[in-house]
Amino acid sequence: MKFGGTSMAGTERIRRVARIVQRQQAAGHEVAVVVSAMAGETDRLVNFCREANPLYDPAEYDVVVASGEQVTSGLLAMHLQALGCKARSWLGWQLPVRTDDAHAKARIETIDSEALLASMAAGEIAVIPGFQGLTADNRVTTLGRGGSDTSAVAVAAAVKADRCDIYTDVDGVYTTDPRIVAKARKLKNVTFEEMLELASVGSKVLQTRSVSLAMKEGVRVQVLSSFIDDDAPPADSIPGTMIVSEDELIGELEGLEMERQLITGIAADKNDAKVTLTRIADRPGAVATIFGPLAEANINVDMIIQNVAKDKGETDVTFTVPQADLARTQALLEEQKDTIGYYRIIADSKVAKISVVGVGMRSHAGVAGTMFKALADRGINIQAISTSEIKVSVLIDEDETELAVRVLHTAYGLDAA
Ligand code: ADP
Ligand code: ASP
Ligand code: MG
Repeated sequence: MKFGGTSMAGTERIRRVARIVQRQQAAGHEVAVVVSAMAGETDRLVNFCREANPLYDPAEYDVVVASGEQVTSGLLAMHLQALGCKARSWLGWQLPVRTDDAHAKARIETIDSEALLASMAAGEIAVIPGFQGLTADNRVTTLGRGGSDTSAVAVAAAVKADRCDIYTDVDGVYTTDPRIVAKARKLKNVTFEEMLELASVGSKVLQTRSVSLAMKEGVRVQVLSSFIDDDAPPADSIPGTMIVSEDELIGELEGLEMERQLITGIAADKNDAKVTLTRIADRPGAVATIFGPLAEANINVDMIIQNVAKDKGETDVTFTVPQADLARTQALLEEQKDTIGYYRIIADSKVAKISVVGVGMRSHAGVAGTMFKALADRGINIQAISTSEIKVSVLIDEDETELAVRVLHTAYGLDAA
């Protein structure tokens, strides 16, 4: 069971979480619980680091930001004890959760589950702070923002759990963010591949890494709400959204003889910036001189378009990078101006990437066409396009984000009745 920040935000909420955990144990389960810091706490701690030193040491940043989860794990253990349950906390370094040494974005390597399993078998509820780990030389690490989801999946894999229930402030995965589009519909199932694409293009309901880990380790993941009454249906009846394999989904659909929508979900991401280099020579190797240095600097380039060469054998190249990397990108490109041989850099942070995702795309043509037409009908201009087997993304003006998501939601027949 994993509880996110809003679920852990304050005494009343943690008390409610304790009751949900107690009920799950009473239903006959051995339970390990992974918790986030209270909502807003990690942001607060990150700010202290920035104030201390804008060029802070990432290892010390991890020491600071990992503390939020230490507080909530201890508090939940106390609340469980108050309800008469046996419970104890297991901090990242106590298990330990071993990670690599990429501070602030560490990857989990192993979790020693021996002590954990013994304690659970003895009827004790294990409460584990998410987000934190330990390097080989015993320094504290954190897993990147939203990383408690990944901690939960990793713990579930380590103890070979029947299921990993991710409790949050919405009751499942929706066709799009239900806080932005009122007509969003809750999905009963989403495939791993779809969830992976949705998470990576902006649906922050699950951290992307948690989904790839669940897929790799075969962990059954359910997303459901912690904002429930005592008489709500039990988690075992799967009231939320299950993340399933495509085979499992097909089996279920055949059983129900049900048609699935072509598009499963729509996501928006405002964290990218668009960069255009004008008048680059249209010759072999020109593009490599742009993207080589960016790759070396660990800057992730996402969408790329190269225009048709005009009369002088020159072309414009446009691509997107994370907004956080825009300044570094511009500096690197300026350094390389002579090697690349462009005329001007034009940067624009006021863009949004809108993506439609669905495994149904594999077997159906026309998905992209529907998207372009629906946007054109509302006068929304497309600045760049990228696709994968189960995803189409377009780059548009940031001001048109909500409108675009709503228009596409309707165009693909996703609106709730
Ligand atoms: P937690 O603190 O529990 O980890 P998050 O804020 O990380 O919660 O994730 C839950 C939020 O994800 C929801 O409140 C919702 O606004 C957002 N969200 C974005 N896209 C979706 C989606 N497709 N379905 C459900 N929630 C979504
Ligand atoms: N508390 C961390 C964050 O805010 C980890 C998490 O909540 O998943 O990013
Ligand atoms: Mg989260």
